[in-house]
Amino acid sequence: MKTRKTNLYLALSMAIVSVAGASPAMTQSAYDAQFITYPTYNGDDLELTVDNSGTHFRLWSPKAQEARVNIYDNGRFGKPLQTLEMKADPSNGTWTASVPEKLYGKYYTFQIKFDGKWKDETPGVWAKAVGVNGQRAAIIDLAKTNPEGWENDKGPKVDNFTDVIIYEMHHRDMSEHPSSGIANKGKFLAMTEEGTVTPLGEKTGIDHLKDLGVTHVHILPSYDYNSVDETNLQDNVYNWGYDPQNYNAPEGSYSTNPSDPATRVREMKEMVKALHDAGIGVIMDVVYNHTAQNDESNFELTAPGYYHRHWDDGRYSDASACGNETASDRQQMRDYIINSTKYWADEYHIDGFRFDLMAIHDIETMNQVAEELKKVNPSIFVYGEGWTASDSPLAKDRRALKENVSKMKDVAVFSDDIRDAVKGHFSNASDRGFATGKPGVEETVKVGIVASTAHPQVDYSKSAGLKFAYAESPEMIVNYVSCHDDLCLTDKLKKSMEGASEKDMLDAAKLAQTIVFTSQGTPFMFAGEEIFRDKKGVHNSYKSPDSINAIDWGNKTKYKDQYEYYKGLIALRKAHPAFRMTTAADIAKNLKFDKIDSAKTPNLISYSLNNNANGDEWKEIKVVFNGASYPQTVDIKKGEWKKVVENGKVSPTGELGTTAGGKIELPPYSALILAREK
Ligand code: CA
Repeated sequence: MKTRKTNLYLALSMAIVSVAGASPAMTQSAYDAQFITYPTYNGDDLELTVDNSGTHFRLWSPKAQEARVNIYDNGRFGKPLQTLEMKADPSNGTWTASVPEKLYGKYYTFQIKFDGKWKDETPGVWAKAVGVNGQRAAIIDLAKTNPEGWENDKGPKVDNFTDVIIYEMHHRDMSEHPSSGIANKGKFLAMTEEGTVTPLGEKTGIDHLKDLGVTHVHILPSYDYNSVDETNLQDNVYNWGYDPQNYNAPEGSYSTNPSDPATRVREMKEMVKALHDAGIGVIMDVVYNHTAQNDESNFELTAPGYYHRHWDDGRYSDASACGNETASDRQQMRDYIINSTKYWADEYHIDGFRFDLMAIHDIETMNQVAEELKKVNPSIFVYGEGWTASDSPLAKDRRALKENVSKMKDVAVFSDDIRDAVKGHFSNASDRGFATGKPGVEETVKVGIVASTAHPQVDYSKSAGLKFAYAESPEMIVNYVSCHDDLCLTDKLKKSMEGASEKDMLDAAKLAQTIVFTSQGTPFMFAGEEIFRDKKGVHNSYKSPDSINAIDWGNKTKYKDQYEYYKGLIALRKAHPAFRMTTAADIAKNLKFDKIDSAKTPNLISYSLNNNANGDEWKEIKVVFNGASYPQTVDIKKGEWKKVVENGKVSPTGELGTTAGGKIELPPYSALILAREK
């Protein structure tokens, strides 16, 4: 997530924070002091349990003076059927109430009295099903939402996270365009439709993903969010979904009937199952770092002041730049994040979690999240943005920052180093990068190639990013050149290469992704870039209409060559473990850069993957990148080389021809990959 506010608003809020943040450590402890006496509760019966003895409610709200549950017949309208007074259990800060019936089909809200006043109704923070627009929690039998065969459903087994190939997609982007040929446009069910094609017969939807070969999709926020009115879907309002409302229920607008609480649950599971049946894992983007609302958020309405961080003067702190930030460093919030991700992994078989603005969370929380998820499924991949959007009261050395990734076990971070070095600065549209002819960023690209691990030939003092090898293992790094945020790759190339031919841009896109897909670490791509998808130059398209965000699948015919290249790159990476080494020591030993003086010969990088690296059948793989707008020549040592990538073509088996080495010229914006078996 970048920001949902205007730049002006962001600048203003940052200015306020910088004043308030004069002594952040102190402000935090002063505000936090009031919670020392709060009892916490980590039972699995929080808020709602239905069993043979009836329906049971347990709300955590240590400072409530009174608490009650309202039971409704309807998810949206009408007065309560009954209101139950809750009984306090001061030993753990919870309030309980029960009825002897199983209230399936009914809805409920909690209400607490705080500071002498009844607060607004809330579905609580643990609603696993909700009525339309998420205002009331729904009581459903979750077992009845399971698709056929769900008990045997499993995502792909992952031995090493460097084997994962991530495809980031938004539900509407993928299916909304008329050219998708998909019936359930913008819905979870879109990914369950097989055999969909464009009017010209190109595969779309799940068949497209299978053909492309990615191992995992990473879906943008799919929990219930706030910005789209689920009672008014005909308006086709679009949002990325970084405005969380109910963390444990799916978003209604992606279901075929948001007014029926079970439908969204069942349809999201059907999507997961269809992808799993296709051999594709499902990673969910999670935004526990802030809530859509402040005082009216479900957190605030259940335990006022507790779940969010504040500055000492009582104002919400705002490291998300969206109005508030949550407090993972407090026990009940930490347990909440752990239990919520475990719930998605368990109930929805989710295979990974991408943490938005992860550095708002503390290191300890992220370590516990990863450790607990491993117990559910060792293949679960946890990664996130190792930064915040603004200052936080949480001390820097406790934040789950990129620079602290080596303090986190089984957690990876995005490499903005390789992103900005390859394509140019994310916020400066005209800035170019290595792949588009900008000199001087070769060392930062090399940082990306070795996945930010210590390497004898990489001088971190010359990196544009952090000045040290911050990753102890390549499994800690996710490499990419673009994602939903900022200008997508196509738009970035159009803005920064103004005046260049489309062929040059297509070549630069291929080069940029070749760098990503051959680098150590885990590669990540943004949906549609394989067919040169653009967003009409809109960088922050979080609420732009479908006309900006939807992928035009007609591009698949128009840019067929681009698609085949991406597909080939993915097949190459999957077939060759040398690109997927698992330890920093292996990379330091097997990856050797050729000596090139970047001052004299800029935009040229050449390296070898030696020693049948990581069990590869190829003894040596030579990888060369020319990011210049003119041809450059390299001298390849004599040998029996097969051509794997040359002149914008890729053959994962090295069948583009052979060469005995010697001088080889690379066209502008291109990669050369050769391999030898002896
Ligand atoms: Ca919603």
